[in-house]
Amino acid sequence: METTGNCRCNAVTVRVSADIQTGELQPRRCDCDYCRSKPSGLISHPSMQVSVGVPLSALKAEKNGDRLATFFRCKTCDDLIAVGGEIDGEWRGAVNADLLACRAEFGDDVAISPKTLSPSEKQARWKMLWGRITDLSDALTLQLVNQVLPYFGRQPALDITRYGIARPDNVVA
Ligand SMILES: [Zn+2]
Repeated sequence: METTGNCRCNAVTVRVSADIQTGELQPRRCDCDYCRSKPSGLISHPSMQVSVGVPLSALKAEKNGDRLATFFRCKTCDDLIAVGGEIDGEWRGAVNADLLACRAEFGDDVAISPKTLSPSEKQARWKMLWGRITDLSDALTLQLVNQVLPYFGRQPALDITRYGIARPDNVVA
């Protein structure tokens, strides 16, 4: 799958890709008090790459009951963008399926009840389920690295196209 999406007010865009068909992904609806007050269907897959079009630091970051996961919301319209956490030094997480252009193609929603799991069970589950989240600041860093590498006689080694940012003209691929 490869798709894009945006929050209601268009301030935040996302680009999502994964090695799985959309029909095989089932949006998960969590039954915790926090999620029930602002319902969203979440999807993730270990191969999923979620690129957020703004720096994560520009989003509202909220924690739920046990404060293990961070919920990133648009500061303007409050739509949930993604849920995630840092695992082994990188941002992993799930994206809000309701924002995505291919929303109608996903499988049936499933109810989940992570509140029945212990913190360590939750983290083990997330490690298996969550994709990778990158944001605009990661993309800009890569863009800079790729611009600087040729000056040291090195070819740009990092793929920035997956971040949805055009390769700068002065970089020779
Ligand atoms: Zn918004």
